[in-house]
Amino acid sequence: MSALSIEGLHARHGLLEAVRGISFAVRKGETLALVGANGAGKTTLLRTLAGAHPTAAGRILLNGDDVTKLPAHQRVRHGIALVPEGRRMFASMTVTENLKLGAMSGRKGDWSIERIVEIFPNLKKRLDHKTGHLSGGEQQATAIGRALMSNPDILLLDEVSLGLSPLVVDRVYEQFGGLMQSGTTIILVEQDLSRAMSVADRVICMLEGKTVLEGAASELTREQVTDAYFGLHRANSGRHVQ
Ligand code: ATP
Repeated sequence: MSALSIEGLHARHGLLEAVRGISFAVRKGETLALVGANGAGKTTLLRTLAGAHPTAAGRILLNGDDVTKLPAHQRVRHGIALVPEGRRMFASMTVTENLKLGAMSGRKGDWSIERIVEIFPNLKKRLDHKTGHLSGGEQQATAIGRALMSNPDILLLDEVSLGLSPLVVDRVYEQFGGLMQSGTTIILVEQDLSRAMSVADRVICMLEGKTVLEGAASELTREQVTDAYFGLHRANSGRHVQ
């Protein structure tokens, strides 16, 4: 059974259809990268999966259970956690307090502050610091840690690189190694195609709310993904989805 499968998902902003009939399934432990130009619908899709944005049509199945109609807080209890774009930390709270907050809203499981610090060692000396005083990379690690503390089966990461220097992004991604080995299923939105293709098992390229290319990261070429990204369809270039 897939950890998460979505069938014919649609989501709107008023009259604008931002997500137009997306379907895919993710296996447990798989890392899926969603790529696509600005406005392709990636953030709306992630927010819809998390229940932060309403589903206009289609179904979302989590471990086989239909969660489409559940509000966001109940989806957290079913094992979906979103790290939103821009991190959204409680700046006046310490790292520890933020992490504990994640645990309170989630379900029981193996994640603990000690395990978060193992994966993000840069937080070790920061646990008692207010998150507003942390560097961008440390804030990002705290935001991911907070989501992990809810013991999710599926972690949704929206543009973790946003607003961080390339050096800091490298560090955050380096620390992902441990996260991926933990067996957590990850769906991430990433603007940097090279990074997306190097970190993910599978890549889906979206264009104007639809999937235009889907494949194993190891089997797609950068040229194929770039073409799909810009809406150029070359003959014989990978598995294009209409
Ligand atoms: P980006 O990389 O810029 O975040 P994206 O692929 O994540 O882009 P979305 O942010 O999901 O795309 O946007 C999809 C479409 O929905 C775009 O046309 C965008 O202008 C529109 N949109 C997004 N948020 C809103 C909103 N709150 N109100 C109205 N339209 C919106």
